[in-house]
Amino acid sequence: MSLADARHWVFDMDGTLTLAVHDFPAIKRALDIPQEDDILHHLAALPADEAASKRAWLLDHERELAHAATPAPGARELLHMLRERGCRLGVLTRNAHELALVTLQAVGMGDCFASDDILGRDEAPPKPDPGGLLHLADKWSIEPSELVMVGDFRFDLECAKAAGARGVLVNLPENPWPELTDLHARDCLALRQLLSG
Ligand SMILES: [Mg+2]
Repeated sequence: MSLADARHWVFDMDGTLTLAVHDFPAIKRALDIPQEDDILHHLAALPADEAASKRAWLLDHERELAHAATPAPGARELLHMLRERGCRLGVLTRNAHELALVTLQAVGMGDCFASDDILGRDEAPPKPDPGGLLHLADKWSIEPSELVMVGDFRFDLECAKAAGARGVLVNLPENPWPELTDLHARDCLALRQLLSG
């Protein structure tokens, strides 16, 4: 099946549908997390009270970013085209569900997804774990191979591979992970053109 015929699309949010604003090195410095560590995995391994206060800081920080979010080039137009084709659309993000709703509203994409098709870090294990994609495939009663995952980072592509879905990379001029990628498009604008061509 060609990507143009795919009817089930899952998007990463930050840096894919929105322009990247998270300064991860600064977040790690503020939370005293070693630069080489994964933020969510690091927090999960901390004592409960320390983890809770750092999660609260992260949520506050991300809430500010959410309100100031800007749409990535062509993202809204791509979602609208897929919606018009009758596609089912979901979001799989390492951000929090609550903040994903705020962010998508802020960039004018709030009407593109059903709320329970938006999986945040409390609804699914963090990517690259394929759990979120497998959950959506099950919920939508399809095979994971019918899913397309669109993202801007290696975790998105690894998540797609591990689930048996296809992976599309956007918003990077060069593709550093060709072995993980089924399609690379400069941005969502280019992806939209490729799908309508
Ligand atoms: Mg991203």
